[in-house]
Amino acid sequence: MFTIKDHLEIKNNHLMIGGADTTVLAEQFGTPLYVTNESRVIGNFSSYRKAFPDADINYAAKANGSFAILRMLAREGAGADVFSFGELYMALLAGIPRKKILFNGNSKTDFELQKAVEIGIKVSVDSLDELHTLSKIADSLGKTVEIAFRVNPDVSAKTHPKISTGLRTSKFGIPSEEVVDAYKEANGLPGILPAGIHCHIGSQILDTTPFTEATHKMMDLVEKITGLGINLKFVDMGSGLGIPYKKDEGQAPTPLDHAKAILPVFEERTKALGISPRLVLEPGRFIVADTTILLARVNTVKKAARNFVGVDAGFNLLVRPTMNDSYHHVVVANKANSKPEDTYTIVGPICETGDIFAKDRTLPHIEKGDLVALLDAGAYGFSMSSQYNGRPRCAEVLIKDGEADVIRSREDFVDLLNGQKLPARLM
Ligand SMILES: *Cc1c(COP(=O)(O)O)cnc(C)c1O
Repeated sequence: MFTIKDHLEIKNNHLMIGGADTTVLAEQFGTPLYVTNESRVIGNFSSYRKAFPDADINYAAKANGSFAILRMLAREGAGADVFSFGELYMALLAGIPRKKILFNGNSKTDFELQKAVEIGIKVSVDSLDELHTLSKIADSLGKTVEIAFRVNPDVSAKTHPKISTGLRTSKFGIPSEEVVDAYKEANGLPGILPAGIHCHIGSQILDTTPFTEATHKMMDLVEKITGLGINLKFVDMGSGLGIPYKKDEGQAPTPLDHAKAILPVFEERTKALGISPRLVLEPGRFIVADTTILLARVNTVKKAARNFVGVDAGFNLLVRPTMNDSYHHVVVANKANSKPEDTYTIVGPICETGDIFAKDRTLPHIEKGDLVALLDAGAYGFSMSSQYNGRPRCAEVLIKDGEADVIRSREDFVDLLNGQKLPARLM
Protein backbone atom coordinates (compact mmCIF):
# COMPACT_ATOMS: atom_id res chain seq x y z
CA MET A 1 0.00 0.00 0.00
CA PHE A 2 0.90 3.61 -0.48
CA THR A 3 2.91 5.04 2.33
CA ILE A 4 2.27 8.69 2.98
CA LYS A 5 5.61 10.36 2.68
CA ASP A 6 7.54 13.24 4.10
CA HIS A 7 5.31 16.27 4.45
CA LEU A 8 2.07 14.32 4.32
CA GLU A 9 1.00 12.24 7.27
CA ILE A 10 -2.06 10.66 8.84
CA LYS A 11 -3.32 11.63 12.28
CA ASN A 12 -6.59 10.41 13.80
CA ASN A 13 -7.47 8.94 10.42
CA HIS A 14 -7.17 12.41 8.82
CA LEU A 15 -4.76 13.38 6.08
CA MET A 16 -2.39 16.10 7.29
CA ILE A 17 -0.25 18.39 5.15
CA GLY A 18 2.57 20.42 6.66
CA GLY A 19 1.04 19.83 10.10
CA ALA A 20 -2.45 21.05 9.10
CA ASP A 21 -5.52 18.80 9.18
CA THR A 22 -7.07 18.71 5.71
CA THR A 23 -10.59 18.21 7.09
CA VAL A 24 -10.22 21.42 9.12
CA LEU A 25 -8.84 23.29 6.11
CA ALA A 26 -11.81 22.16 4.03
CA GLU A 27 -14.23 23.40 6.69
CA GLN A 28 -12.41 26.66 7.13
CA PHE A 29 -11.78 27.60 3.50
CA GLY A 30 -14.39 25.54 1.66
CA THR A 31 -13.86 23.17 -1.24
CA PRO A 32 -12.52 22.68 -3.81
CA LEU A 33 -9.24 23.88 -2.33
CA TYR A 34 -5.62 23.77 -3.41
CA VAL A 35 -3.28 23.36 -0.42
CA THR A 36 0.47 23.90 -0.76
CA ASN A 37 3.12 23.17 1.83
CA GLU A 38 5.67 25.97 1.79
CA SER A 39 8.54 24.04 3.35
CA ARG A 40 8.16 21.30 0.76
CA VAL A 41 8.63 23.82 -2.07
CA ILE A 42 11.76 25.16 -0.39
CA GLY A 43 13.00 21.62 0.28
CA ASN A 44 12.55 20.54 -3.33
CA PHE A 45 14.32 23.61 -4.58
CA SER A 46 17.23 23.06 -2.18
CA SER A 47 17.59 19.46 -3.24
CA TYR A 48 18.05 20.66 -6.82
CA ARG A 49 20.55 23.25 -5.79
CA LYS A 50 22.50 20.69 -3.77
CA ALA A 51 22.53 18.25 -6.67
CA PHE A 52 23.81 20.93 -9.04
CA PRO A 53 25.89 23.19 -6.77
CA ASP A 54 27.54 25.07 -9.64
CA ALA A 55 24.49 25.45 -11.88
CA ASP A 56 21.82 28.12 -12.13
CA ILE A 57 18.37 26.82 -11.28
CA ASN A 58 15.69 28.56 -13.31
CA TYR A 59 12.27 27.57 -12.03
CA ALA A 60 9.84 26.88 -14.91
CA ALA A 61 7.12 29.34 -13.95
CA LYS A 62 4.42 27.67 -16.00
CA ALA A 63 4.34 24.66 -13.68
CA ASN A 64 2.82 26.79 -10.93
CA GLY A 65 2.78 30.54 -11.39
CA SER A 66 1.08 31.42 -8.14
CA PHE A 67 2.64 34.62 -6.92
CA ALA A 68 3.46 33.35 -3.43
CA ILE A 69 5.39 30.45 -4.95
CA LEU A 70 7.32 32.71 -7.32
CA ARG A 71 8.07 34.95 -4.36
CA MET A 72 9.39 32.20 -2.11
CA LEU A 73 11.56 30.82 -4.90
CA ALA A 74 12.86 34.30 -5.68
CA ARG A 75 13.94 34.55 -2.04
CA GLU A 76 15.73 31.21 -2.36
CA GLY A 77 17.75 32.59 -5.24
CA ALA A 78 15.94 30.87 -8.10
CA GLY A 79 15.96 32.20 -11.63
CA ALA A 80 13.01 31.67 -13.94
CA ASP A 81 12.15 30.12 -17.25
CA VAL A 82 9.22 32.12 -18.62
CA PHE A 83 7.12 31.33 -21.65
CA SER A 84 5.11 34.55 -22.06
CA PHE A 85 5.22 38.20 -21.13
CA GLY A 86 2.66 37.45 -18.43
CA GLU A 87 5.03 34.97 -16.77
CA LEU A 88 7.90 37.42 -17.16
CA TYR A 89 5.86 40.19 -15.57
CA MET A 90 4.97 37.98 -12.60
CA ALA A 91 8.53 36.69 -12.17
CA LEU A 92 9.96 40.21 -12.12
CA LEU A 93 7.28 41.43 -9.71
CA ALA A 94 8.09 38.49 -7.46
CA GLY A 95 11.67 39.70 -7.30
CA ILE A 96 13.49 37.32 -9.62
CA PRO A 97 16.38 39.34 -11.07
CA ARG A 98 16.17 39.93 -14.81
CA LYS A 99 19.63 38.45 -15.32
CA LYS A 100 18.38 35.12 -14.02
CA ILE A 101 15.50 34.87 -16.48
CA LEU A 102 15.35 33.17 -19.87
CA PHE A 103 12.44 34.05 -22.14
CA ASN A 104 11.32 30.88 -23.92
CA GLY A 105 8.58 30.25 -26.41
CA ASN A 106 8.00 28.91 -29.88
CA SER A 107 5.67 31.68 -31.00
CA LYS A 108 6.46 34.93 -29.26
CA THR A 109 4.76 38.15 -30.27
CA ASP A 110 6.76 41.16 -31.41
CA PHE A 111 5.51 42.87 -28.25
CA GLU A 112 7.06 40.10 -26.14
CA LEU A 113 10.37 40.29 -27.97
CA GLN A 114 10.42 44.06 -27.62
CA LYS A 115 9.75 43.84 -23.89
CA ALA A 116 12.55 41.29 -23.48
CA VAL A 117 14.97 43.61 -25.27
CA GLU A 118 13.85 46.70 -23.35
CA ILE A 119 14.08 45.03 -19.96
CA GLY A 120 17.27 43.16 -20.79
CA ILE A 121 16.07 39.57 -20.64
CA LYS A 122 17.91 36.75 -22.40
CA VAL A 123 15.85 35.16 -25.16
CA SER A 124 15.75 31.53 -26.23
CA VAL A 125 15.20 31.86 -29.97
CA ASP A 126 13.07 29.16 -31.53
CA SER A 127 13.48 29.88 -35.27
CA LEU A 128 15.52 31.89 -37.76
CA ASP A 129 12.42 33.92 -38.47
CA GLU A 130 12.29 34.91 -34.82
CA LEU A 131 16.03 35.64 -34.86
CA HIS A 132 15.57 38.20 -37.64
CA THR A 133 12.58 39.82 -35.96
CA LEU A 134 14.51 40.05 -32.71
CA SER A 135 17.54 41.54 -34.44
CA LYS A 136 15.41 44.25 -36.05
CA ILE A 137 13.71 45.07 -32.76
CA ALA A 138 16.99 45.20 -30.80
CA ASP A 139 18.73 47.22 -33.48
CA SER A 140 15.91 49.76 -33.69
CA LEU A 141 16.09 50.21 -29.91
CA GLY A 142 19.87 50.55 -30.06
CA LYS A 143 20.27 47.54 -27.77
CA THR A 144 21.96 44.16 -27.81
CA VAL A 145 20.07 41.09 -26.65
CA GLU A 146 21.74 37.92 -25.41
CA ILE A 147 20.29 34.85 -27.06
CA ALA A 148 20.39 31.09 -26.97
CA PHE A 149 18.91 28.91 -29.65
CA ARG A 150 16.38 26.35 -28.55
CA VAL A 151 17.73 23.14 -29.99
CA ASN A 152 15.58 20.22 -30.96
CA PRO A 153 18.07 17.49 -30.08
CA ASP A 154 15.95 14.65 -31.47
CA VAL A 155 15.98 12.67 -28.24
CA SER A 156 13.11 10.51 -27.12
CA ALA A 157 12.27 11.42 -23.55
CA LYS A 158 10.34 8.17 -23.05
CA THR A 159 7.37 9.99 -21.61
CA HIS A 160 3.78 10.67 -22.65
CA PRO A 161 3.70 11.89 -26.29
CA LYS A 162 1.86 15.08 -25.31
CA ILE A 163 4.71 16.15 -23.02
CA SER A 164 7.62 14.95 -25.14
CA THR A 165 9.21 18.08 -26.57
CA GLY A 166 12.55 16.99 -28.00
CA LEU A 167 11.40 14.60 -30.69
CA ARG A 168 12.32 15.42 -34.26
CA THR A 169 8.63 16.04 -35.02
CA SER A 170 7.97 18.36 -32.07
CA LYS A 171 7.06 22.00 -32.60
CA PHE A 172 9.86 23.22 -30.34
CA GLY A 173 13.32 24.33 -31.36
CA ILE A 174 15.62 24.24 -34.33
CA PRO A 175 16.64 20.84 -35.74
CA SER A 176 20.12 20.04 -34.40
CA GLU A 177 21.70 19.79 -37.84
CA GLU A 178 20.67 23.39 -38.58
CA VAL A 179 21.81 24.83 -35.28
CA VAL A 180 25.45 25.55 -36.15
CA ASP A 181 24.38 27.55 -39.21
CA ALA A 182 21.93 29.44 -37.04
CA TYR A 183 24.80 30.53 -34.76
CA LYS A 184 26.85 31.57 -37.82
CA GLU A 185 23.95 33.70 -38.93
CA ALA A 186 23.26 35.14 -35.49
CA ASN A 187 26.91 36.06 -35.00
CA GLY A 188 26.81 38.69 -37.70
CA LEU A 189 23.41 40.18 -36.91
CA PRO A 190 22.95 43.62 -35.41
CA GLY A 191 21.61 43.68 -31.87
CA ILE A 192 22.22 39.96 -31.31
CA LEU A 193 24.78 38.37 -29.00
CA PRO A 194 24.83 34.56 -29.09
CA ALA A 195 25.45 33.79 -25.44
CA GLY A 196 24.07 30.34 -24.78
CA ILE A 197 22.39 27.22 -26.04
CA HIS A 198 19.18 25.65 -24.80
CA CYS A 199 17.18 22.45 -24.99
CA HIS A 200 14.34 20.84 -23.06
CA ILE A 201 13.45 17.31 -24.05
CA GLY A 202 10.14 16.76 -22.28
CA SER A 203 8.42 16.41 -18.97
CA GLN A 204 7.69 13.71 -16.37
CA ILE A 205 10.86 11.84 -17.40
CA LEU A 206 11.51 8.84 -15.16
CA ASP A 207 14.45 7.29 -17.00
CA THR A 208 17.50 9.55 -16.90
CA THR A 209 19.35 8.09 -19.89
CA PRO A 210 17.72 10.58 -22.33
CA PHE A 211 19.29 13.40 -20.24
CA THR A 212 22.73 11.90 -20.86
CA GLU A 213 21.99 11.46 -24.54
CA ALA A 214 20.81 15.06 -24.80
CA THR A 215 23.92 16.34 -22.97
CA HIS A 216 26.16 14.52 -25.45
CA LYS A 217 24.24 15.98 -28.37
CA MET A 218 24.29 19.47 -26.91
CA MET A 219 28.02 19.26 -26.19
CA ASP A 220 28.64 18.13 -29.80
CA LEU A 221 26.96 21.38 -30.82
CA VAL A 222 28.81 23.42 -28.21
CA GLU A 223 32.06 22.07 -29.63
CA LYS A 224 31.14 23.15 -33.16
CA ILE A 225 29.85 26.54 -32.02
CA THR A 226 32.99 27.16 -29.98
CA GLY A 227 34.91 26.30 -33.15
CA LEU A 228 33.18 29.25 -34.83
CA GLY A 229 34.83 31.52 -32.27
CA ILE A 230 31.60 32.02 -30.33
CA ASN A 231 32.02 32.05 -26.57
CA LEU A 232 28.98 30.39 -25.04
CA LYS A 233 28.37 31.66 -21.53
CA PHE A 234 25.67 29.15 -20.66
CA VAL A 235 24.36 25.73 -21.58
CA ASP A 236 20.72 25.34 -20.55
CA MET A 237 19.65 21.71 -20.39
CA GLY A 238 16.01 22.42 -19.54
CA SER A 239 14.54 19.88 -17.17
CA GLY A 240 11.68 17.45 -17.20
CA LEU A 241 12.58 15.31 -14.21
CA GLY A 242 9.52 13.24 -13.31
CA ILE A 243 8.00 12.52 -9.95
CA PRO A 244 6.47 9.26 -8.66
CA TYR A 245 2.75 9.97 -9.15
CA LYS A 246 2.13 6.24 -8.87
CA LYS A 247 3.19 5.44 -5.37
CA ASP A 248 3.81 1.75 -5.90
CA GLU A 249 5.97 1.95 -9.02
CA GLY A 250 9.42 1.69 -7.53
CA GLN A 251 11.96 4.42 -7.26
CA ALA A 252 11.71 7.63 -9.25
CA PRO A 253 14.94 9.45 -10.06
CA THR A 254 15.99 12.31 -7.80
CA PRO A 255 17.78 15.56 -8.66
CA LEU A 256 20.99 13.70 -7.74
CA ASP A 257 20.23 11.10 -10.40
CA HIS A 258 19.50 13.91 -12.82
CA ALA A 259 22.89 15.39 -11.94
CA LYS A 260 24.63 12.05 -12.41
CA ALA A 261 23.13 11.84 -15.88
CA ILE A 262 24.34 15.27 -16.93
CA LEU A 263 27.32 16.49 -14.91
CA PRO A 264 30.03 13.94 -15.83
CA VAL A 265 29.44 14.52 -19.55
CA PHE A 266 29.11 18.26 -19.17
CA GLU A 267 32.24 18.57 -17.03
CA GLU A 268 34.40 16.28 -19.11
CA ARG A 269 33.50 17.90 -22.38
CA THR A 270 33.73 21.52 -21.28
CA LYS A 271 37.12 20.72 -19.77
CA ALA A 272 38.29 19.10 -23.00
CA LEU A 273 37.22 22.22 -24.88
CA GLY A 274 38.85 24.50 -22.34
CA ILE A 275 35.64 26.47 -21.82
CA SER A 276 33.60 27.15 -18.71
CA PRO A 277 30.00 27.97 -19.55
CA ARG A 278 27.43 28.03 -16.73
CA LEU A 279 25.14 25.04 -16.63
CA VAL A 280 21.46 25.99 -16.32
CA LEU A 281 18.57 23.73 -15.29
CA GLU A 282 14.89 24.58 -15.55
CA PRO A 283 12.96 22.30 -13.21
CA GLY A 284 9.25 22.98 -12.89
CA ARG A 285 7.32 19.88 -11.98
CA PHE A 286 9.86 18.52 -9.53
CA ILE A 287 9.89 21.75 -7.51
CA VAL A 288 6.14 22.01 -7.01
CA ALA A 289 4.24 18.82 -7.94
CA ASP A 290 4.35 16.96 -4.66
CA THR A 291 4.01 20.11 -2.52
CA THR A 292 0.31 20.50 -3.20
CA ILE A 293 -2.94 18.60 -2.87
CA LEU A 294 -6.36 19.36 -4.28
CA LEU A 295 -9.19 18.83 -1.80
CA ALA A 296 -12.65 18.08 -3.14
CA ARG A 297 -15.91 17.26 -1.40
CA VAL A 298 -18.01 14.27 -2.41
CA ASN A 299 -21.38 15.43 -3.77
CA THR A 300 -22.80 12.07 -4.69
CA VAL A 301 -22.03 8.38 -5.04
CA LYS A 302 -23.63 6.29 -7.78
CA LYS A 303 -23.44 2.60 -8.63
CA ALA A 304 -23.67 2.31 -12.41
CA ALA A 305 -21.27 0.79 -14.94
CA ARG A 306 -18.69 1.87 -12.40
CA ASN A 307 -18.90 3.00 -8.83
CA PHE A 308 -18.89 6.74 -9.54
CA VAL A 309 -17.93 9.24 -6.89
CA GLY A 310 -18.90 12.78 -7.97
CA VAL A 311 -16.76 15.47 -6.34
CA ASP A 312 -16.91 19.26 -6.52
CA ALA A 313 -13.62 19.73 -8.45
CA GLY A 314 -13.34 18.83 -12.10
CA PHE A 315 -10.93 19.20 -14.97
CA ASN A 316 -11.58 22.92 -14.80
CA LEU A 317 -9.23 22.82 -11.80
CA LEU A 318 -6.95 19.88 -12.60
CA VAL A 319 -6.84 18.96 -16.26
CA ARG A 320 -3.88 16.56 -16.29
CA PRO A 321 -5.85 13.32 -16.02
CA THR A 322 -8.19 14.43 -18.81
CA MET A 323 -5.52 15.89 -21.05
CA ASN A 324 -2.54 13.61 -20.53
CA ASP A 325 -4.11 10.49 -18.98
CA SER A 326 -2.15 11.37 -15.87
CA TYR A 327 -2.37 9.47 -12.63
CA HIS A 328 -3.01 11.23 -9.34
CA HIS A 329 -3.04 9.27 -6.16
CA VAL A 330 -6.32 9.59 -4.24
CA VAL A 331 -6.70 9.60 -0.47
CA VAL A 332 -10.04 9.82 1.31
CA ALA A 333 -8.84 12.59 3.56
CA ASN A 334 -11.30 12.04 6.43
CA LYS A 335 -10.77 8.25 6.34
CA ALA A 336 -7.11 8.20 5.46
CA ASN A 337 -6.30 5.08 7.46
CA SER A 338 -9.55 3.21 6.97
CA LYS A 339 -9.50 -0.16 5.30
CA PRO A 340 -9.90 -0.07 1.49
CA GLU A 341 -13.25 -1.72 0.82
CA ASP A 342 -14.46 -0.97 -2.63
CA THR A 343 -13.48 0.17 -6.09
CA TYR A 344 -14.36 3.74 -7.00
CA THR A 345 -14.03 6.02 -9.98
CA ILE A 346 -13.62 9.66 -8.97
CA VAL A 347 -15.27 12.07 -11.39
CA GLY A 348 -15.80 15.81 -11.55
CA PRO A 349 -18.97 17.84 -12.14
CA ILE A 350 -18.03 18.94 -15.66
CA CYS A 351 -20.29 18.10 -18.57
CA GLU A 352 -17.65 16.06 -20.43
CA THR A 353 -17.23 12.30 -20.43
CA GLY A 354 -13.48 12.76 -19.96
CA ASP A 355 -13.91 14.54 -16.63
CA ILE A 356 -12.45 11.67 -14.66
CA PHE A 357 -9.75 12.07 -12.02
CA ALA A 358 -9.15 8.45 -11.13
CA LYS A 359 -10.48 5.15 -12.43
CA ASP A 360 -11.22 2.03 -10.42
CA ARG A 361 -9.30 2.85 -7.27
CA THR A 362 -9.58 0.68 -4.23
CA LEU A 363 -10.52 3.02 -1.41
CA PRO A 364 -12.28 3.06 1.96
CA HIS A 365 -16.08 3.17 1.85
CA ILE A 366 -17.05 6.57 0.37
CA GLU A 367 -20.26 8.49 0.98
CA LYS A 368 -21.64 11.94 0.40
CA GLY A 369 -19.79 14.57 2.41
CA ASP A 370 -16.46 12.73 2.48
CA LEU A 371 -13.35 14.65 1.56
CA VAL A 372 -11.14 13.44 -1.27
CA ALA A 373 -7.52 14.54 -1.70
CA LEU A 374 -5.78 14.35 -5.06
CA LEU A 375 -2.07 14.22 -4.35
CA ASP A 376 0.81 15.73 -6.30
CA ALA A 377 -1.39 18.43 -7.81
CA GLY A 378 1.11 21.30 -7.53
CA ALA A 379 2.47 21.23 -11.07
CA TYR A 380 0.31 22.02 -14.07
CA GLY A 381 -2.70 22.07 -11.75
CA PHE A 382 -4.05 25.48 -10.87
CA SER A 383 -1.86 26.99 -13.58
CA MET A 384 -3.96 25.20 -16.20
CA SER A 385 -7.34 25.92 -14.59
CA SER A 386 -10.32 27.50 -16.30
CA GLN A 387 -13.88 28.61 -15.59
CA TYR A 388 -15.33 26.03 -17.96
CA ASN A 389 -18.96 25.17 -17.27
CA GLY A 390 -19.47 28.41 -15.36
CA ARG A 391 -17.29 27.38 -12.46
CA PRO A 392 -15.39 30.09 -10.58
CA ARG A 393 -11.86 28.96 -9.79
CA CYS A 394 -11.16 27.72 -6.28
CA ALA A 395 -8.95 29.20 -3.57
CA GLU A 396 -5.36 28.31 -2.83
CA VAL A 397 -3.88 28.20 0.67
CA LEU A 398 -0.27 27.97 1.75
CA ILE A 399 0.71 26.05 4.87
CA LYS A 400 3.65 27.03 7.02
CA ASP A 401 4.20 25.33 10.38
CA GLY A 402 0.64 24.05 10.44
CA GLU A 403 -0.90 27.49 9.79
CA ALA A 404 -2.74 28.36 6.58
CA ASP A 405 -2.74 31.61 4.62
CA VAL A 406 -4.96 32.22 1.62
CA ILE A 407 -2.67 32.95 -1.33
CA ARG A 408 -5.49 33.16 -3.86
CA SER A 409 -9.10 33.94 -3.06
CA ARG A 410 -11.90 31.78 -4.30
CA GLU A 411 -13.47 33.40 -7.33
CA ASP A 412 -17.02 34.60 -6.96
CA PHE A 413 -19.82 34.14 -9.47
CA VAL A 414 -19.43 37.78 -10.56
CA ASP A 415 -15.92 36.81 -11.71
CA LEU A 416 -17.60 34.82 -14.45
CA LEU A 417 -18.58 38.16 -15.95
CA ASN A 418 -15.08 39.68 -15.75
CA GLY A 419 -14.41 41.79 -18.79
CA GLN A 420 -17.64 40.82 -20.52
CA LYS A 421 -19.81 43.54 -22.02
CA LEU A 422 -23.19 43.72 -23.69
CA PRO A 423 -23.62 45.64 -26.92
CA ALA A 424 -26.27 48.35 -26.42
CA ARG A 425 -28.83 46.41 -28.45
CA LEU A 426 -28.76 43.58 -25.92
CA MET A 427 -29.26 45.80 -22.90
C1 LIG B 1 7.95 23.29 -19.21
C2 LIG B 1 9.37 23.60 -19.36
C3 LIG B 1 10.28 23.28 -18.35
C4 LIG B 1 9.89 22.55 -17.08
O1 LIG B 1 9.56 21.23 -17.30
P1 LIG B 1 9.22 20.28 -16.07
O2 LIG B 1 8.88 19.00 -16.68
O3 LIG B 1 8.08 20.89 -15.36
O4 LIG B 1 10.43 20.23 -15.21
C5 LIG B 1 11.59 23.65 -18.52
N1 LIG B 1 11.99 24.28 -19.65
C6 LIG B 1 11.15 24.58 -20.65
C7 LIG B 1 11.65 25.27 -21.84
C8 LIG B 1 9.82 24.25 -20.54
O5 LIG B 1 8.99 24.52 -21.53
